[in-house]
Amino acid sequence: MACHCTGCQRMSASAFSLSLAIPTPGFEIIAGEPVLGGLHGDSHHYCCPHCKSWMFTRTEGMDEFVNIRPTMLDRHEWFVPFIETWTDEKLPWATTPAPHSFGKLPDFAAFPALIQAFAKEGARPAKA
Ligand SMILES: [Zn+2]
Repeated sequence: MACHCTGCQRMSASAFSLSLAIPTPGFEIIAGEPVLGGLHGDSHHYCCPHCKSWMFTRTEGMDEFVNIRPTMLDRHEWFVPFIETWTDEKLPWATTPAPHSFGKLPDFAAFPALIQAFAKEGARPAKA
């Protein structure tokens, strides 16, 4: 996902943030103690305690997924946004190649179909 909301513009110091929704059972912190940063709202933004870079987000009421910043992966060149959100707030020049675009957030009921479409068509790492 790419998010164009003004909060993500501030936190990323850029035009939009990038997120990769990982099912919570597939996510594990194996080193270090992330610290809270960002907007301090219903979404909890976890940052590296050393460089303070935003690494991942857990959102209250969305316990099924952890949103990690794909640019924090050792290999992230394969990442292509599949949906973009909050285009109502986007900078006029900011564009992404995401095939699914939403002025705000997609309706929650739209997620199963989007997840199925991503499983079929979405970008994924090349096999090593
Ligand atoms: Zn956002």
